[in-house]
Order: sequence, then C-alpha cells, then structure tokens
Amino acid sequence: MSSLEARRLKHLESAIRAASGEQIVTIERLVAEVASLRVADVALARRTEVTRAERRCPHCGTAGAHLHGQDKNNRQRFRCRTSECRRSFNILTGTPMARARKPEKWGHYLSHMTDHHSVRKITAAGIGVNHTTVWRWRHRFLKAAAQDNTAILSGVIEADETFFVRSCKGHRGWVKGRPPETRAARPRAWGATKRGLSGEQVPVLTALDNAGGVYEAILPSLAAIKVALDGRITAGSVVCSDGTAAYVTAAVKAGAEHRRVVVPTITPVAVKVAPVPTKRRQKGRLGLGRVNAQHGQIKALVNGRCRGVATRYLGNYLGWQRAMLRTGFTGKALLDRALA
Ligand SMILES: [Zn+2]
Repeated sequence: MSSLEARRLKHLESAIRAASGEQIVTIERLVAEVASLRVADVALARRTEVTRAERRCPHCGTAGAHLHGQDKNNRQRFRCRTSECRRSFNILTGTPMARARKPEKWGHYLSHMTDHHSVRKITAAGIGVNHTTVWRWRHRFLKAAAQDNTAILSGVIEADETFFVRSCKGHRGWVKGRPPETRAARPRAWGATKRGLSGEQVPVLTALDNAGGVYEAILPSLAAIKVALDGRITAGSVVCSDGTAAYVTAAVKAGAEHRRVVVPTITPVAVKVAPVPTKRRQKGRLGLGRVNAQHGQIKALVNGRCRGVATRYLGNYLGWQRAMLRTGFTGKALLDRALA
C-alpha cells in the first residue's frame, strides 16, 4: 500500500470515528454492499490476515514460517522454518483454491453457481473465463462443500442406501478409441445395461439424524456399509433402517437400538384394485421418510439437473446437495468453506 493510500485510509478512519450515529448506519450499509460485491477480495483478505498471524506451514504444520517475498500475483509467500521441510507456501496452499487464478472473478462466478446455472450458461454469461476454467472452478468449490460430511450421528438416525449407474461421462477415451470400460458408450439418460444390482451400480450410503447431521459415502460395494458406519453412531441412539444385516450390526456394535422399518411395497395395480387409506402421519413415528427424501433430492440433482455425472465426481455433487440443505447457503459461505 502506498503512503498516500495509507494516509487517506487514516483520514477515513478518523472521519468514521467522528461520525454521527446516523452516518455510521449509512457507512455500515455501504461497507456491507461493497463487501457483498467483492466477496472474493474480502475472503482472501481474511485468509491473509489469519495466515499472517499464525504462519502455519500447510505441509508439516509448524507455525512461525518466514515471510518469503511475493508471488507474481502480489500475494505474500511464506517459507517453512524447519530445516526438514523448508517448503514455501501462500495463503491458498492446501485449500481447494490453491493455484486458482483470477480471484476478482470468483464472486461473479459464485453468484451463477448458487443460482444453479450450468457450465455452458455461466460461460455464455460473459464472466470472461472459458468453459474449462468454469468447470474446474465448479469442482474446486464442490470439493470444498463435500468436505462437510457429518462425522458423528446421534438421536434418531435414518440410514439407507441408493444406487447410481457407474459412469465415465466426459472421459476422452470414448472419442479417442481407448474406452475406460469394456462396453459401448451410453447415450445420455440410458440406464444400466443389466437389470437389477450389478457392478454397473455404485452404492451410496446416507445416514442422517434429527439434529440435521447428514453423512454420505460412496461405497465400493454393499459389504462396506458396516465399515462406513463404524464409529459414527453415538451409543444410545435409535437407528432406523430397512433391516439389512449390516445396519443392525453397526447399531448393535455402537450400543444403539435398531428399529426395522417395513416399507410397504404398493404397486400401481394394487392401488387401483384396493386404494390404501391414507393415514395422517403420527407424530414421533419412526420411518425412513427423511432419508428417502434426501435420496430423491440427490437423484433429482445428479440424474435430473445434471443428466448424470461421472462417478469420479459423484462425491462432489453429493457435497453440493448437502451444502444446499444448509441454511444460509450463499456464494460467500461456499467461498469461506473453500478458504477455511
Ligand atoms: Zn513445513
């Protein structure tokens, strides 16, 4: 900061200190307005302040790194003080935003992302970054959102699994004659080629509790449910599931109670023949309603809005859906998460 700017800032500071109550309200509003337009600037400045105070090396965790000049984007660089590490870093090293450029455009991009615009639409909106960059930014922010996965669940827990067709959407091998899987490429919206469960289906486990905690995991196979839930259930909780052995075992091991919820299978034909009387939902009754609703929302996002996503990115989209569930989901919240 040049000395002239520093002097002007000093003047501004004394002016604010001398301002009337009414003027302070106006200033507050102005600052909030400017900050909302420049979310990335503000988030980066906060991140710089925190990093400067601690100077903790993201590679080895040692605090007190030395200042190490500035990089070509005028960002402060640091160098680890331990002789074994000696690595340099900047404020973004170790975050999903490391090495991402054009931070002045992140705020504009995020406003499109939180409006759920497609990559193509965002590129066309004229932010001034190309299709590939928009795609990469999307996944940087989604990766940040995906880090929020509740570790420990308690109270009334609902757990169930759902399936997604294994996908290599966008894999260059399809057009370059080196397909990633030994099958023909599927035109969009095609399901699996085999009926029922097979290796073509990727199981996703969802467990949620009544405090708003949601845990999700993409499993290698259904046999992994027990391991995935290990250490995530608080003793004394009530676990509701469809009664699959893995859920019962996980509940018993955690010292929780297990309740099997029988979901009646109603076929459209059966409904026609004898309509099932609709019962008012009884308060406190245990069911799998919330976990089913969650699965419905993920399906709508992944298979509906995105028309299928590559399995390697599925975790990011699950994180996006969890982030959307939270209150106060804004571009700023997403950026704060990415820079946390
Ligand atoms: Zn270090």
